[in-house]
Amino acid sequence: MKRLLTFFSWVILLSLALGLVAGCGPTPVPPTPTKAAPTKAPEGTLLRKIQDRGKLILGVKYDVPLFGYLNPQTNQLEGFDVALGKEIAKKIFGDETKVEFKQAVSKDRIPFLQQDVVDLIISTMTITEAREKEIDFSEVYYLAGQSLLVPKGSPIKSIADLEGRTVASVKGSTSEKNIREKAPKANVILFDSYSECVTAMVGKRAEAVTTDDIILAGFASQNKDLTLVGGLFTYEPYGIGIKKGNKELVDLVNGVIRDLKASGRWKEIYTKEIGDKAGIPAPVPPIGDWREIMKSAPK
Ligand code: GLU
Repeated sequence: MKRLLTFFSWVILLSLALGLVAGCGPTPVPPTPTKAAPTKAPEGTLLRKIQDRGKLILGVKYDVPLFGYLNPQTNQLEGFDVALGKEIAKKIFGDETKVEFKQAVSKDRIPFLQQDVVDLIISTMTITEAREKEIDFSEVYYLAGQSLLVPKGSPIKSIADLEGRTVASVKGSTSEKNIREKAPKANVILFDSYSECVTAMVGKRAEAVTTDDIILAGFASQNKDLTLVGGLFTYEPYGIGIKKGNKELVDLVNGVIRDLKASGRWKEIYTKEIGDKAGIPAPVPPIGDWREIMKSAPK
């Protein structure tokens, strides 16, 4: 009996030992990281400063549905511009969360870049010759066009009907400049933000709001009593604003925009941030230099 017990003890000990050996097999090789550590940009460049800081600081709108919108229900920023910013952070850090957003209304966009408040402006910003004298732009990432938003049933059907009427727009925007040229007899009142323009119109302090069609479409998607009229009377090619003298950052941003357009990801982002919310199917992404695009702009 004792012998039998000893035999069984040996069997148990042996199997335990074998189990242990199996458990302590060769140490598993750690998985190779999918992304190589990003290479550091040259010392003294803005891109290097961003890399060393560990996050990207972006100026976006907070009140423009579909582009830069702080959703009061989720307390999260959403929209095409916000998504584009995250793609750039992904490119720099391999992590789309390494980004801090700051609110940049239209008139603050260029000063924010010049005073180093933000690294990039992604804020429904049209590339223009005048602005190009002050800052650099990426390639075109979206093509909008100026239009009018009115309450449904309004007698205003086009810019020709604005004569003697009050139209709201935003300080420091191309919309303000364009409407003064295209409807010189309209009474233009200016606010800091587009949501203030819409509030003024709903409160009957203005009869129309004018800016880019896609901004107006965002407000119309939130308020079924409002509608766009008059079609497009300008082209507004959107670019990402970058402080002058930062070629490495311009190149990186352009690389991201090109990849998004070529890979189909641009369409995916459009569908999620704009298409599904406003019921607009994704167009073909704009290709080519903004000056070329402007050649076919409405006159
Ligand atoms: N895209 C125009 C601009 O850059 C109007 C929209 C805006 O003010 O953000 O001025």
